[in-house]
Amino acid sequence: MPDRPLRSVCVFCGASPGGDPGYAADAAAMARALVERGIRVVYGGASVGVMGALAEAALAAGGEVVGVIPRHMVRNEVAHAGLTRLHVVGSMHERKALMADLSDGFVALAGGLGTLEELAEILTWAQLALHDKPVGLLDRRGFFDDLLRFLDHAVAEGFVRPHHRALLRSADEPGPLLDAMAGWERPG
Ligand code: AMP
Repeated sequence: MPDRPLRSVCVFCGASPGGDPGYAADAAAMARALVERGIRVVYGGASVGVMGALAEAALAAGGEVVGVIPRHMVRNEVAHAGLTRLHVVGSMHERKALMADLSDGFVALAGGLGTLEELAEILTWAQLALHDKPVGLLDRRGFFDDLLRFLDHAVAEGFVRPHHRALLRSADEPGPLLDAMAGWERPG
């Protein structure tokens, strides 16, 4: 049996919309898949970009959406005003720690450096066994193909152990990704 049911999932994704409306559509599809499964959405709390598309779609589907945003980012109306709950914290570090505490698993969607940093950190914490929660990557439009190739290369070159590489699940559809995460158990 997996360690815990997936009741709350943290989604890392871009503060920008990207150059293709498909990225927002993918975030909306992920939001609906989470809400259909009764899973609460935890995310960075913004109203803009892929993050905004995720939150709007989850709220429209009747889901619970929790944002965690540092005080300095609330300015300029970047914080989403219509969430189920918005936690305003003191720093980026506090934000990531609270998002992790509030969640049973993590999903990355298309995004930039912030998304990459959040994904790399949560995988590093899994590698160090600081948590045993599943981590998934929605790889649509080939957006993450080069990252996945890089990780395989890092394994081949002896920098990442195969069982640590296996901590990251990826799929090109939200449903199968969430199913794989729900059934996930830490190897060995
Ligand atoms: P990026 O991928 O560089 O667009 O950064 C997006 C990720 O970093 C999100 O998952 C957020 O947690 C965080 N982030 C970056 N910019 C913002 C912002 N303006 N508002 C809220 N969160 C942000």
